[in-house]
Amino acid sequence: MHEVAVYDTKPYDKEYLSKAEGAESITWRFHEFRLNAETASTSNGSTVVCPFVNDQLDQVCIEKLAENGIELIALRCAGYNNVDLKAAKTCNLSVTRVPAYSPHAVAEHAVGLLLTLNRRIHRAYNRVREHNFALNGLVGFDLNGKTVGIIGTGKIGKIAACIFRGFDMRVLAYDPYPSEEWAEENRVEYADLNALLAQSDIISLHVPLLRDNVHMINAETIRCMKSGVFLINTSRGKLIDTKALIEGLKHGQLGGVALDVYEEEEGIFFEDHSESVLQDDELSRLLTFPNVLITSHQAFLTKEALNEIARVTVGNIHRLATDQAFLPETQVA
Ligand code: NAD
Repeated sequence: MHEVAVYDTKPYDKEYLSKAEGAESITWRFHEFRLNAETASTSNGSTVVCPFVNDQLDQVCIEKLAENGIELIALRCAGYNNVDLKAAKTCNLSVTRVPAYSPHAVAEHAVGLLLTLNRRIHRAYNRVREHNFALNGLVGFDLNGKTVGIIGTGKIGKIAACIFRGFDMRVLAYDPYPSEEWAEENRVEYADLNALLAQSDIISLHVPLLRDNVHMINAETIRCMKSGVFLINTSRGKLIDTKALIEGLKHGQLGGVALDVYEEEEGIFFEDHSESVLQDDELSRLLTFPNVLITSHQAFLTKEALNEIARVTVGNIHRLATDQAFLPETQVA
């Protein structure tokens, strides 16, 4: 039987991992704190660690895990930028992940953010709760007939594009690897990035964060956008230069911004800071705009996605137990 030390555990992680098929034959050690070089000693007695996006598995941490007899790092997320893969290889530790959980969850959240922001549903909800039934300041626009630009047409971008087509919107898309057949079938038009920026009333980001696209939305690209454009980011915070975003909002170049991710979200998102003073001045400034809507990296958070994360993670742990090869798409080292 494997003992698995789970880090950065939230109540929903515990619930879904515990009830996944095959979970009953695993001894779970759920820790609320994060895994890093300082906490790695708590893995003692386990054979597997199960980290999430904000655990820091640097070389020192990984060496400590190896000394403790850890054989597998079973990430319960898709990204693995927080793991020193070279160190894992040197220490003979396998690393697995969950490559895709629910692209629908993220695409639907992006659309939900746009509907909320455009029709001021978040403001209306608060007003009505206070018995203020006035409509002043709640004017939105029809999505029907507008142009939405989808940047990145992978799993999530394609679903978002199809949902937007359901509103009878014109969908422009940009991707260095276009899916021409899919675009034709779904009446999506590929365009170059500049044309997409210039023609879109709404722009939604669905690209991975790579070395060459950090701050792909910056002062210059914002200047190329239509005045009053709505921007949605459910991908990664560092795709957007926050300073430029704030300037764009101040000057009205950006008519609305909906973010599920933020450049400096680490240490802020996923936690309750309601009793303390927010130290991040740019996030504080963003929160003062009436036309900015922020959620705390929750686009993935559906029952289906949590079930899938638990199913694949438990499967990876059992493969280690039975000496089976990991599925190629789940193994990163
Ligand atoms: P995917 O790998 O299926 O698709 C990414 C697409 O982006 C690919 O088609 C690729 O060619 C394209 N691309 C790469 N660089 C580009 C660029 N510079 N410009 C335009 N297109 C580019 O990925 P996915 O499953 O659709 O996920 C997209 C992103 O969503 C992930 O990388 C992740 O950052 C984010 N995500 C967020 C959450 C959340 O909870 N907020 C959850 C899961 C994923």
